[in-house]
This record gives sequence, C-alpha cells and structure tokens, in this order.
Amino acid sequence: MIAEKILKLKSELPANVTLVAVSKTKPVEDILQAYQAGQRVFGENKVQEMCDKYEALPKDIQWHLIGHLQTNKVKYMAPFVSLIHAVDSLKLLQEINKEAKKNNRVIDCLLQFHIAQEDTKFGLDFDEATEILKSESYFEMENVRIAGVMGMASFTDNTEQVEDEFRTLYNYFHIIKSHHFKFNPEFREISMGMSGDYQIAIAEGSTMIRVGSSIFGGR
Ligand SMILES: *Cc1c(COP(=O)(O)O)cnc(C)c1O
Repeated sequence: MIAEKILKLKSELPANVTLVAVSKTKPVEDILQAYQAGQRVFGENKVQEMCDKYEALPKDIQWHLIGHLQTNKVKYMAPFVSLIHAVDSLKLLQEINKEAKKNNRVIDCLLQFHIAQEDTKFGLDFDEATEILKSESYFEMENVRIAGVMGMASFTDNTEQVEDEFRTLYNYFHIIKSHHFKFNPEFREISMGMSGDYQIAIAEGSTMIRVGSSIFGGR
C-alpha cells in the first residue's frame, strides 16, 4: 500500500518537485516500504525521533527536519540532517552554524515564513527575514546555506485563501532571491504543500512538497 502510494504520487509530480515523505509517528517498517519503492527523502518533526530512525535505517536516506526546532536540539542531528525547513530566528541559525562547524559540515536551511491566517503557526514575516539576511552575524556564517523558503497555508476549504497564501510565499522567494541570492543557484527551494493542499501548492510554484498522511495513512 505505502509503496503504491509513493509510486502513484511520484508519477503525478512535475520533474522539478521533490517529494518529502513525512514519516513522523510512523514505524521504521513503514519507512522501509517507502524506501523499497525508491523514496529517499523523509521528513520528521521531532529531533529525537529522527535521530532514532536515522540510526535504524539505511544511511542513504536524506533526513529533513520539518517542524519547529529548539536551539538546544540542534546538536543531536547536526552530524547527519540534510535540510532544516523551519528556521525562524537568527538565534536558531547561529546555533545551526555553530553545530555544523563542529561537524565540519555546511547545513542547508530554509527560512520559514508565516503565511497562514491562524496565529498558531511559527514563522517569520518579510521584514524579520530581511533583517536576518542583512545582519553582520549571518554574513559571517560559513556553515549554513540558505536554500530557500518554507511555509504552511491555513487549514481551510477556502481554495482561494490557500492559493493567496502560497502565492505570498512564492513572491517572497523571488524578492529575496533578487535582493540577496541573485547569483546563488543554491537558493532554489519553495517548500509548500501537504496532503490536503499539495496540488494547489504545485500550481503556485512549489518545488518541494511535504506529504505524510496521503502516503502513510492517518496519525
Ligand atoms: C505533519 C507535517 C506535514 C505533513 O502533513 P500531512 O497532512 O500528513 O501530509 C507537512 N509539513 C509539516 C511542517 C508537518 O508538521
């Protein structure tokens, strides 16, 4: 079942869209089924759980941390994490840079933007992001690489609202690219779209969708 869902979903995706299979709360057996169907990119939202799964599973899996991240947890995953989706403060970026340096790595990160109307969701606004990118501290960081942006739309049946929110993120991406990363091809990802809204997200320019329940079932 899981393998079939992965294959079907992948066959529907444009070539430039990466599927992050969100395996949070699911056992390693489920992840292995997806792995055997060729899936290599998995997303988790808790550091401890991701570390345990990293230990138990094949080492060519790319692990993405997709959820809110506390600075004191960064050190546990710094040796192996492939992409951190939810950077929402300079302090967190500084910590990632510090731990990446200790591991002699450069860690890819996305800036998380607050695009939903619900105020429960984390993320930066445009000015806060600009402040980070203009800061002396960011300028001196050698062990993080900002690879793009991430956001979550409101949970609503209102398609137009979801479209508007994704479009906002798409526009932020392009403004930030032209102001700060014009000659940096590594700034390229727009991580938006989940099980309920990934088709809208792709239509609005997503390059990376994070899909859990449509693959692994409800949690
Ligand atoms: C859980 C989660 C997802 C996946 O959600 P589904 O609705 O199960 O596809 C995507 N992004 C983030 C940040 C999540 O926490």
